[in-house]
Amino acid sequence: MSEGDKRIICRRCHENISMTLGTCPHCGAEIKGLKGPATMVIIGLVVLVPTVMEGMWWLAVVGLALLFGGGYFIYDKRTRMKRAEPGQTAPVESPEPESEAEA
Ligand SMILES: [Zn+2]
Repeated sequence: MSEGDKRIICRRCHENISMTLGTCPHCGAEIKGLKGPATMVIIGLVVLVPTVMEGMWWLAVVGLALLFGGGYFIYDKRTRMKRAEPGQTAPVESPEPESEAEA
């Protein structure tokens, strides 16, 4: 198991690609890191905790949205990384039409 070459399933064309490339060699989709989503989760927490304590629920909802949004991105990325691992024989051929373009 080599730690250096992390692989992931491309979100757009579902090819097994290396994360070190930055962009997908098949379709050119950007391979985004986890920094953005992780930042969303952290900001979500930072917003959520004090607003809940202060009873500012409308702002707490914003924090929750950030938390779940970032959490979803991380979950999605981890899932695609797992599927890209050699030895994983999960069925890749399920081309769900993803209308959500990358943000
Ligand atoms: Zn691709």
